[in-house]
Amino acid sequence: MNKIAVIGAGTMGNGIAHVFAMHGYSVKLCDLSDDALTRAIENIKKNLWRMVAKEKISKEKSDQSLENITVTTDLQEAVFDADLVVEAASENVDIKISLFKQLDEICKDDCILATNTSSISITKIAAATKRPEQVIGMHFMNPVPVMKLVEVIRAYQTSDEVTQTIMDMSKNLDKVPVEVNDYPGFVANRILMPMINEAIYTLYQGVAGVQEIDQVMKLGMAHPMGPLQLADFIGLDVCLAIMEVLFNGFGEAKYAPCPLLVNMVTAGQTGRKSGIGFYDYSGEGKELVIAKKFA
Ligand code: NAD
Repeated sequence: MNKIAVIGAGTMGNGIAHVFAMHGYSVKLCDLSDDALTRAIENIKKNLWRMVAKEKISKEKSDQSLENITVTTDLQEAVFDADLVVEAASENVDIKISLFKQLDEICKDDCILATNTSSISITKIAAATKRPEQVIGMHFMNPVPVMKLVEVIRAYQTSDEVTQTIMDMSKNLDKVPVEVNDYPGFVANRILMPMINEAIYTLYQGVAGVQEIDQVMKLGMAHPMGPLQLADFIGLDVCLAIMEVLFNGFGEAKYAPCPLLVNMVTAGQTGRKSGIGFYDYSGEGKELVIAKKFA
């Protein structure tokens, strides 16, 4: 199993391509947008150079890793001979279902189809193909070259053999795979997102300010980042989408997204990527400035 296709060259896709290429796999990285592919290669180069500078890898290893990656906007070209496809396209159920139907038509019969979705049902994606037992969740964490965990999510239909192959392959990438079943939020986001949502409720109800909430969780619970800063980092739109999956999937009031989160997303204040969320990222410095209305 050496030929890997990564679909989607955004935040996650470039990191996934980086990690496979660094471990000797031949990677085709595919996106609809040429610009996304150019940015992805620039990012991968930057991250590899950083690893060389920190003496984590040699310059030869960095050069070899880059040589292992080719880019294309042609889905057919990307996947026709792949042993494994890792889909990391935008978090949208229609995009994913349509992609998996196409992949099912184009890919070799024995190709495994993995998705990096944070919240969409793997069982539903698998059911859109004629090879549901070969569909699985391979949930990498951001930033992919740094984070050790791969949440390996078995769809209701995934075979034992395919699960074992992906567990072994994740270990080959020097990651730690953890096998979980496909229910809303899987494990990571089922636990993380309600905590973030609760932090937003705590702010919304005036219990404490942004900095106070983040400080309690950083200093008191030894979290490397406070939950509101983490929400900004993930993207408030992504946090809202995951809360909606939990709420719709379980039908329990405890998963209702906080109205403040809904308002901020509606207003386009989605965190770091939009320049403002709970903190203001419009300044030059790296210092976190609390967005004015929460001060
Ligand atoms: P992103 O928006 O940065 O990138 C998505 C890329 O997919 C874009 O470049 C877009 O052009 C491309 N794309 C969309 N439709 C496509 C198609 N049909 N074919 C090829 N490319 C297509 O998104 P991201 O943050 O990298 O997230 C990708 C996936 O990873 C999502 O499913 C997301 O839930 C999941 N994920 C994200 C994070 C995170 O922290 N960002 C963490 C874990 C998992």
